[in-house]
Amino acid sequence: MAAIKEISTEQKLKDLYQLQKIDSKITEIKTLRGELPMEVRDMEDELEGLKVRIQHLEEEVTKAEDVINNHKAAKKDAEAAAKKYEKQQDNVKNNREFDALSKEIEMQKLEAQLNEKRAKDAAEELRLKQSNLEAAQKHIKEKEKFLKAKKTELTDLIDETESEENDLLSQSTHHRENIEERLLMSYDKIRKNYRNGLAVVPIRRGACGGCFNRIPPQKQMEIKQHRKITACEHCGRILVDEAIDM
Ligand SMILES: [Zn+2]
Repeated sequence: MAAIKEISTEQKLKDLYQLQKIDSKITEIKTLRGELPMEVRDMEDELEGLKVRIQHLEEEVTKAEDVINNHKAAKKDAEAAAKKYEKQQDNVKNNREFDALSKEIEMQKLEAQLNEKRAKDAAEELRLKQSNLEAAQKHIKEKEKFLKAKKTELTDLIDETESEENDLLSQSTHHRENIEERLLMSYDKIRKNYRNGLAVVPIRRGACGGCFNRIPPQKQMEIKQHRKITACEHCGRILVDEAIDM
């Protein structure tokens, strides 16, 4: 290996901070992409719920139709029975028998009326259920349309972020080549320790941009000069002055 180019500490910090910014963008994209499918899944779950509701409504409609048919059949039976008793009245042997049949006829006629009313009530209920069903079917159609559009949108967005991520990943790799092994190792180690993946942070309003603890003014001065690599004494992150990449 020929002479290694002497790199100033300031340049090293600049490179590290640049790398951090690229890596942070990758983290951001990954988080975003993780949330998108969740949104679609929630919508799919909602749609499943609606489908179950429609199924129930369809069952209720069928049941209401059965109820109407049963009442109609009962009405016909009662009417037929009444007619049968009326015919029997022609052949009675005495008044007692005639009266008994009259009572029976009256009862059957009442029964027919009652069933007619019940069939009407059930028809009213059926209409209500049918309109509920129609509303739910309309609602689900709209939801399905919306979900389809959302899915397309999300697929596009995922494709888009994927190509952006690939671009950033190659930028990250490229940047790492300029940074010495020892620094990269501590950079990666700090990043691993924090969920937000921040290893290099600027000072903001006199505090560490990672843990927000105050940094003594003397130390702030030192950091501003970028003559040495300084870690936050609270969180261990590498501190830089915000103006470093301007
Ligand atoms: Zn800190």
